[in-house]
Amino acid sequence: VAARSSPAAVQATNDDAVASKLSCVNKGYMKDDYVHFFKLKMIGNSNLFSFPNDSEGYYARWSVLRKLMRQFLNSGNGSNDQKRKQILSLGAGFDTTFFQLQGEGITPYLYVELDFKEVTSKKAAIINHYSEMKEKLGPEASISIEKGEVTSEHYKLFSADIRDIPKLDSVIHMAEMNPSLPTFIIAECVLIYLDPTSISAIVSWASDKFSTAISFLYEQIHPDDAFGEQMIIILEVPSFIHKEKLFLDHGWKRAAAWDMLKIYNDFINSEERHRIERLELFDEFEEWHMMQEHYCVAYGINDAEGLFDDFGFK
Ligand code: SAM
Repeated sequence: VAARSSPAAVQATNDDAVASKLSCVNKGYMKDDYVHFFKLKMIGNSNLFSFPNDSEGYYARWSVLRKLMRQFLNSGNGSNDQKRKQILSLGAGFDTTFFQLQGEGITPYLYVELDFKEVTSKKAAIINHYSEMKEKLGPEASISIEKGEVTSEHYKLFSADIRDIPKLDSVIHMAEMNPSLPTFIIAECVLIYLDPTSISAIVSWASDKFSTAISFLYEQIHPDDAFGEQMIIILEVPSFIHKEKLFLDHGWKRAAAWDMLKIYNDFINSEERHRIERLELFDEFEEWHMMQEHYCVAYGINDAEGLFDDFGFK
């Protein structure tokens, strides 16, 4: 589907992510003190209105990433272990997770974000404009709006087309990532916009590069295999089993994938669920179930250091 979309259309999908996040934050689903800064830089005219079901879905997406990321940051020995952890976000858009982690006192050693230059330039401009963000980067931070780059002690933003594997190599080198440190790689609603050859190349590259790593993926899927392979090819949206296989077929040692309905029911804790279910009138359960089955989280694990025995959907 997406391989046929124009670069501008793909970049504009970031507007929808910002609109959904902002709507959820405004309604009290989650806290993000930075996302509102990005509203004016949205490319299109995304509407900030969202239905309760959308908000709950978005909340579940936000929550599962944060929960797995925290597991990663807490893995290993010693309470200061996040000081040697790296996060690499592919197609990061206007995501503000680094700034939230910083505010929570759990800054990783390095947080690197990549996206097209059109997107990183706008992000660099926002970070430069708002002291609430800029101050989080420390006095050594350097920001180039023209290049779409931010470099600071713990946070780096670079432009890259992630389909360009030699560029991925050079950019992580420029960002001073250390491939032997534990690394969490995020591809949240990104790979769906790429062609299958590029997806394979990126997933293999990440596995070859990082021997102690978690590769996190969130995206749309076809809910089950019942229609058979032919239907899946027509829809170009594989089921969650294919996402697990994607990792195992491209070098990752372990992998798992759950659809978002299972994640909501069995992974997000019940107090959280009860809190958000009281925020808005929510009665379209059937529709909600169907929608959640169309999205999944999958992860691949390489565990050369033996850090991730307790990591995962448990
Ligand atoms: N990951 C962010 C989130 O979940 O909030 C943004 C998701 S947005 C739907 C998809 C992002 O992927 C856009 O910012 C787009 O520019 C980026 N993207 C898509 N294809 C890309 C590519 N080939 N190289 C770099 N970035 C890409």
